[in-house]
Amino acid sequence: MRLIFATNNMHKMSEIRDILGDKYKDVLYSMLDLDIHIDPEETGKSFVENANIKANALYQELESKNMLIEGDFIIADDTGLCIDYLDGAPGIMSARYMGKETNQDDKNSKILELMKDIKDDERTAHFITNLSVIEVLNIIDNKPKRLNFEGKIEGYIAKTIEKKDGFGYDPIFAVGDPSDIAIGKVKTYSNMGVKEKNKISHRAIALNNFVQYLENNHNI
Ligand code: IMP
Repeated sequence: MRLIFATNNMHKMSEIRDILGDKYKDVLYSMLDLDIHIDPEETGKSFVENANIKANALYQELESKNMLIEGDFIIADDTGLCIDYLDGAPGIMSARYMGKETNQDDKNSKILELMKDIKDDERTAHFITNLSVIEVLNIIDNKPKRLNFEGKIEGYIAKTIEKKDGFGYDPIFAVGDPSDIAIGKVKTYSNMGVKEKNKISHRAIALNNFVQYLENNHNI
């Protein structure tokens, strides 16, 4: 069995390694490990569609290079931050918010600026990950099985950026309830540190749903 992740994002990959732990460390591959260099356009209208686009692109690339093996799982993670006050933005546009080339610090500062006068209880937001999984059952029949798993966590947008750990929108997304702001207990993904984040995050929930499927349906 190989678990092959369709990502070039080293932060994501390192979280995935940490979440899946020792049990899966010898079967885990990134695109870099297999010398695959693709960057499909995320033209979907939902996290599921974009995750499927990324998983399909990697599947096709491996198939065209005769690199698929029975028992492979091709996996793509599409993730986004959805802010209620911004009508769900940046959402599926999270990577392209303010343009793909814009520095992440500028994106985080812009969101705080847009929300500077917003009351605590209106700062709610959530993170979503959709995992698209293509299970290679039989190379000859060429009939892969397709599955999706979701992870979602509720939280809110902090009022200040305190950057310690993590990546992307971690410095501004806090878990829990916005009433924590008034009592000075804001726990952003960034401040809690990546180890704690990986125990509770949207990505951990989605990956644990996948692991449950693996362990229920395969002899692992
Ligand atoms: P994608 O899933 O790679 O398309 O990521 C979408 C955007 O969300 C990118 O800007 C990432 O930096 C950001 N992102 C993805 N996962 C996380 C996370 O766990 N924390 C914070 N930002 C994230």
